[in-house]
Amino acid sequence: MKILVVNAGSSSLKYQLFDMPTGNVLAKGNCERIGIDGLITHKCPGKEDYKTNADFPDHRAAIALVLQLLTDKEKGVIEGVSEIEAVGHRFAHGGEKLRASAVLGADEIKYLESIVGLNPLHGPPAISGFKACKEAIPNANHVGVFDTSYYSDMEEYAYIYPIPYELYEEYKIRRYGFHGTSHRFVAGEAAKLLKKADAKIITCHLGNGSSITATVNGKAIDTSMGFTPQDGVPMGTRSGAIDPTVVTYIQKVKGISAEEADKILNKESGLLGVSGVTSDCRDIREAAANGNKRAKLAMKILAHNIKKIIGSYVAEMNGVDALVFTAGIGENDRELRQEVCKDMSFLGIEIDEAYNQSCPRGEVADISQKGAKVKTFVIPTNEEYMIALDTQNLTK
Ligand code: ADP
Repeated sequence: MKILVVNAGSSSLKYQLFDMPTGNVLAKGNCERIGIDGLITHKCPGKEDYKTNADFPDHRAAIALVLQLLTDKEKGVIEGVSEIEAVGHRFAHGGEKLRASAVLGADEIKYLESIVGLNPLHGPPAISGFKACKEAIPNANHVGVFDTSYYSDMEEYAYIYPIPYELYEEYKIRRYGFHGTSHRFVAGEAAKLLKKADAKIITCHLGNGSSITATVNGKAIDTSMGFTPQDGVPMGTRSGAIDPTVVTYIQKVKGISAEEADKILNKESGLLGVSGVTSDCRDIREAAANGNKRAKLAMKILAHNIKKIIGSYVAEMNGVDALVFTAGIGENDRELRQEVCKDMSFLGIEIDEAYNQSCPRGEVADISQKGAKVKTFVIPTNEEYMIALDTQNLTK
């Protein structure tokens, strides 16, 4: 069964064509700068990578080009579009109603359109990506996979903010949580490694955007991102959790609008804001190695905040069986893993520092010290495969 996974952003559209149930990736690529000066990268294992400028004014044109490439005699891997039996669409937000992955019909789309206010950056492009795809591949089943749905079973006390309850009722202001597809995937892999379905697992997805999730028995019980992906640990350019009064205070002292304050916290904070150098972890490490004190401080703040959240989740779960690191920073920054796991033996978290430094990249690694009470794993995330799996399960 061939399943196309589509992840549409405001000016990009990433795709992967899976052969299921093997999970083999037949082709993948990215349409960038949609509506600006398009660029497409298309890769098929065993074939030469293809990268070219392309004219796609909108998502519809981008999808048309993707399908043309997938079915091309030389660059493609299928003979016709009809070979694509199902399409899995990634949505960052499923609101309160889309509590699990679902086949996308008129009701689901109507609901997704009704909640774009909660998700103004990702909602509209994901919906237009879906519509374009549905038009181009009408006979396939289309499934939506929502980053938020992994958090649907959280207790009320974990998602209701201690602000006037009417704000929740009227405006749906609550903790939603994000990156759920990644946390679900790596927590599932960790449970398999532990051979324990009811395991208590803390997953640290640390990339440009970062979040930490506590999972018990396959269900998320708490997560660091909240109403938006701005909450939790510091990120590339986002502050993560800070005293909320800072927002209104900087508006007053700088005489700026809410939008400008929002821009400071979303685009000019985090690793970039503290270091003053860059949002990219690799470059920050390089600057720190060259003696840049603020770059060093930025990484210290990151490790400190990750540690604090891990500690709070151990308390919430009354223990932990496994700690997992994933995504760009979690999978690659060995120093950060060491810093986070340092001095946590009280909680049973102890890593093999030598193996943490030498374990192969891009593979599952057990970096825990022999005999440690808690397992610490590095597990490469694979959100696209998870989307393909849900799509297969809902349509086969
Ligand atoms: P996104 O959230 O955009 O999917 P990624 O998961 O790809 O982001 O993570 C991007 C982050 O991972 C960047 O900060 C990048 O510097 C960091 N990263 C990637 N490779 C390494 C590495 N070898 N060492 C340290 N950080 C790395």
